[in-house]
Amino acid sequence: TDPFLGNPQNTIAVLQKYHFNFQKKFGQNFLIDTHVLDKIIRAAEITKDDFVLEIGPGIGTMTQYLAQAAREVVAVEIDKALIPILQDTLSGFPNAEVIHDDILKVDIAGLAEQRNGGRPIKVVANLPYYITTPIIMSLFESQVPLASVTVMVQKEVAERMQAGPGSKDYGALSLAVQYYAEPYIAANVPPNCFMPRPNVGSAVIRLTRHEVPPVQVDNEKLMFQIIRASFNQRRKTLVNGLNNSPEITITKEQITEAVESLGKGAGVRGEALTLEEFAGLANKINEMLA
Ligand code: SAM
Repeated sequence: TDPFLGNPQNTIAVLQKYHFNFQKKFGQNFLIDTHVLDKIIRAAEITKDDFVLEIGPGIGTMTQYLAQAAREVVAVEIDKALIPILQDTLSGFPNAEVIHDDILKVDIAGLAEQRNGGRPIKVVANLPYYITTPIIMSLFESQVPLASVTVMVQKEVAERMQAGPGSKDYGALSLAVQYYAEPYIAANVPPNCFMPRPNVGSAVIRLTRHEVPPVQVDNEKLMFQIIRASFNQRRKTLVNGLNNSPEITITKEQITEAVESLGKGAGVRGEALTLEEFAGLANKINEMLA
């Protein structure tokens, strides 16, 4: 009678009907809290014009909410055992389609082209935590036209994505995410909102893609090499961190000169630098390499 999942009773009923066994290796923690589902949909700012890609629909709980809010939803699920369940739970939602595949192997740009005329799509997911970072980075680094990515992730990961210089959470992930998008943590979600309960706290974060990059970078690859090198050795100065990196091939004197050009002294640490300063440093080192 009530087609909506999203509460413990209906979820348990579906799991029992299909004798479903949770698979740890797929990071399966299903949402059982309607307030959290409402919050995710609101944070994603979905309208009836939107094409939404959902990653890992599980038994289709959030997919039902997305289908109500969006024009069209495509949900990609890796676990074969969930496919017949999804056919059942989504039977009343003709604008929701399920693809059985590994999201890391799906041609998302092609999907956006075919289904959304190449216009920016919205990605919404309660992500499997074992591949959060590869999924998010591949979305941003690929040619997928993206409006926003609204995802449930481990709380610590959300905090790292949103952190700025001077925070203990600030690092390569903060800079990578903020180069591509504006982060906003929309909700903190405790373990009891899931079945089974995860061992960690979770948070919903929306990453709104920048239309124009916030900094001008001549060589993106080099900038990210510099960022990784400077956070790989957090306790070292930036000069030493870069000098120890096999990828940065200029001399220590040149590195010192480039770092000093930021006006922060040669003893500065990477964690004190803003994205703008990393961009400036990368442009300077790129010139030296030319
Ligand atoms: N969206 C559902 C919910 O909120 O109740 C399920 C979320 S659960 C945290 C993550 C889902 O992602 C699981 O259904 C899991 O099987 C699926 N999954 C895991 N790895 C995947 C991958 N590589 N590609 C697609 N789906 C994946």
